[in-house]
Amino acid sequence: MTRAEASLAHLYKVFTKPEGNDSRLLQIEQHLSDNLADFLSRHVVASNTSLEDIEHHFDDAALPEHPQFVSEHAEHLLEKLVSNSVNTYSPRFIGHMTSALPYFHLSLAKLLVGLNQNLVKIETSKAFTPLERQVLGMMHQLVYEQNDEFYAQYLHSARHSLGAFCSGGTIANISALWVARNTLLKADTEFRGVQRDGLAAGLQHYGYKKLAVLTSQRGHYSLRKAMDVLGLGREQLIALPCPDQTLDAEAVRQKGRELQEQGIKVMAIVGIAGTTETGHVDPLAELAEVATELHCHFHVDAAWGGATLFSRNHAHLLNGIKLADSVTLDAHKQMYVPMGAGMVVFKDPQASNAVRHHAQYILREGSKDLGATSLEGSRNGMAMMLYASLHIFGREGYQLLIDQSIDKARRFAVMIEDHPDFELTTSPHLCLLTYRIRPAAFQSPDNEKLDMLNKAVQKQQREAGNSFVSRTRLETKDYPETPITVFRVVLANPLTTDEDLHAILDEQAQLARAHKIWTELS
Ligand SMILES: *Cc1c(COP(=O)(O)O)cnc(C)c1O
Repeated sequence: MTRAEASLAHLYKVFTKPEGNDSRLLQIEQHLSDNLADFLSRHVVASNTSLEDIEHHFDDAALPEHPQFVSEHAEHLLEKLVSNSVNTYSPRFIGHMTSALPYFHLSLAKLLVGLNQNLVKIETSKAFTPLERQVLGMMHQLVYEQNDEFYAQYLHSARHSLGAFCSGGTIANISALWVARNTLLKADTEFRGVQRDGLAAGLQHYGYKKLAVLTSQRGHYSLRKAMDVLGLGREQLIALPCPDQTLDAEAVRQKGRELQEQGIKVMAIVGIAGTTETGHVDPLAELAEVATELHCHFHVDAAWGGATLFSRNHAHLLNGIKLADSVTLDAHKQMYVPMGAGMVVFKDPQASNAVRHHAQYILREGSKDLGATSLEGSRNGMAMMLYASLHIFGREGYQLLIDQSIDKARRFAVMIEDHPDFELTTSPHLCLLTYRIRPAAFQSPDNEKLDMLNKAVQKQQREAGNSFVSRTRLETKDYPETPITVFRVVLANPLTTDEDLHAILDEQAQLARAHKIWTELS
């Protein structure tokens, strides 16, 4: 055989299904999973290798010319990539919304990749399409609680859709505002609609100078991206101040009227159910009323907080959510599904027809292809992961998870308040809270110095790699004028214990006391 033939034969082999007794493959798999288990079982959050040093592993832009054995490459990945990753499973990694996953997702992920379905059209997904529609129906029911008749009529209807599955909250928010925009600037007898003739023609036809969206300063940055992508302009996202951490419905009403008097149409109000920074929930029912008065779309960003609805003990915190025209949910946050699982659900099963798209070779008229109303094209069957989780945990299981997170956040708040070195800056809402180092012994707070101290401690803690909390800047009730630097904690990992939380506070107190700013202040 010539060299070319030899390597082609080798390549074919890579594509053929491995035989059950292919010991090499089993060895590689075993080796990788052993290493993964080892990595995840360590308490350490991250290696203390600097990012600059890690960049040296990835600083060669030359394309690899020659093939490599899979086993060789696996070694390469373990050494350069895995060892320098972040252990999001660590019980002391409590700074972000990404956390440990239930073990079964690892096996299911193999199924997902093994089947490699494409949900854009039925021809490449078949059963995955009704599965995804069912999952969207379940999430719709979680939010809107319609009756069986409703779901029998709409769950699998080709001309309706209860929502869209997508990669995350960002795309979900864009999708919701996309529907709101197209619905507002819809076709009539003299206009073919924004979808066909564009924004400028739409604004002119309806006589609006601009379109605005009202939300709070705690709104997620994806909303600004959405405004940009939809051609509305980032500055037309009007983010109202909220020292109490929630939107004041009356302020929204005033601002909305003021804008509309100036010829600026309020396209949507976005209420947040679980803000990214503090976990607060806006007064959703009141905001829904204002949206009705202003004749605008009401969207609720429940990417983080939506899963609270699983808990009969806490669902009331999201009262009014069912009045929303659309709701964003992220299954890869409090539903413990791997990353890449966002959704938007619509109250009105007709709503997404405002963005429906047809093409000849795909997404034909009357087909049930999911791609006809989704922003994304090719998409994997991630809905299966949520489907499995919903069955394996059940609503009751999710309730237990939600309840224990909220209880833990409340216990952590007590630990912080009882500790002489710390100040609770926002009380726990859902399972998020913020706090900072502010020893009771210090006289009046020199916020600038305290900001520097808190920033330094957070950075040192992250670099040491034993634990992780994140950091943000906020106005709070006690400090409404200028934002202060605070630690932000998300108690998502069910394996985080009170002992872990005490250890995190102890580490921070030690770092703070050793810092020169502490000496200056005391
Ligand atoms: C996480 C989050 C988003 C963005 O979701 P991604 O999945 O990261 O795209 C939007 N809004 C809120 C409130 C969030 O918590």
